[in-house]
Amino acid sequence: MLKPVFKVIEKHGLVVEGDKIFVALSGGKDSAASLYCLKKYVDEKGFDAEITGLHVRVYEKSNAFEVIKSQCDLLEIDLVTVDAFKELDVKKAAARSHRPVCSVCGIVKRYFMNKAALEHGASKLATGHNADDFIAFFFKNFLNQEYEWISKFKPVVKGSGNLITRIRPLFFITGEEALSIVRKSGLPVLEGYQCPALEGKVPTDKWKETVKLIESRHRGFKKAMIKSIYKTSSYYPESKETLKSCVKCGMPTNTEVCAFCRLKNYEH
Ligand code: AMP
Ligand code: ZN
Repeated sequence: MLKPVFKVIEKHGLVVEGDKIFVALSGGKDSAASLYCLKKYVDEKGFDAEITGLHVRVYEKSNAFEVIKSQCDLLEIDLVTVDAFKELDVKKAAARSHRPVCSVCGIVKRYFMNKAALEHGASKLATGHNADDFIAFFFKNFLNQEYEWISKFKPVVKGSGNLITRIRPLFFITGEEALSIVRKSGLPVLEGYQCPALEGKVPTDKWKETVKLIESRHRGFKKAMIKSIYKTSSYYPESKETLKSCVKCGMPTNTEVCAFCRLKNYEH
C-alpha cells in the first residue's frame, strides 16, 4: 500500500530536496498514515528533507496528545504542539457566534496549522485528507455550486504569501487503505475518538455514508471518482479574489479581519 502513495509523492512533487514538511496530526488513522508514508519515503529515498509532526490542541481535555507523541517517538521525529485552547474557548465562541462547534473547531485548526508551520519555517503542510474526504467534499460543493473549492481538489495546493503550500499524500487513497497502512506501520491511533465538545455524540457524514453505499453497489466507484475529480479539478474556476492579510493578525483572509480574529471578538 506504500507504493501507490510513493507514486503520488513522486509524480506530484510533494517532497523535494530541502523541504521542511510539517505533518498535521489529529491522532486518527489518516494523519498517522500520511506521516508514516512521508517519513518512509524520505528515509528510503535518502532525501534531504525534514519531517516534523504538528498538533493543534483545540481542547485541553483530549487524549489525542499521548497517542500523537508516541507516533512521533516511534518514527523518531520532532513534534510541535500549539495550545490553541489558551487562545480561544471553542465552545464559548460557538455558542456566542451561533455557529456549530465543529465549524469553529475547523477554523481554529486551520488557522493554527498554517500559522505554526509558517512560524517554524516549514515549506509545506501535509494533512491526512483521503479520497473519501474529497469525494464527499466534491458532492457537497458541486451541489452548492461552490466550484472554486473543487479547483483545489488535488494532491498539492500551492500557497502564496502567508498561506503555506498544502500537500495531501493520501489524495488517491481510500479510508480503508489508509487503515491498512496504519495497521502495518504499527503506529498507535485513537480508536473510537470522542470529541470533548460533542459530549458522547458521534458526528455522522451523510455524504460519506452515501459514497460507501454507492461503492457497495458499484465496486471501483471511489477510485474512478477520485481520478475524475483530480482530472477535472483544473477546469473549475479558481477564486478571483486575491488573498489579503488580516488587519489584526496578518494571517491570510478574504475579509478585512480573518475568521479566527472575528471569533475571538465573541469572547468578550
Ligand atoms: P478533519 O478535518 O478532522 O477530518 O481533519 C483533516 C486533517 O486535518 C487530518 O487528517 C489532519 O491532518 C489534520 N488535523 C485534524 N485535527 C488536527 C489537529 N488537532 N491538529 C493538527 N492537525 C489536525
Ligand atoms: Zn486575524
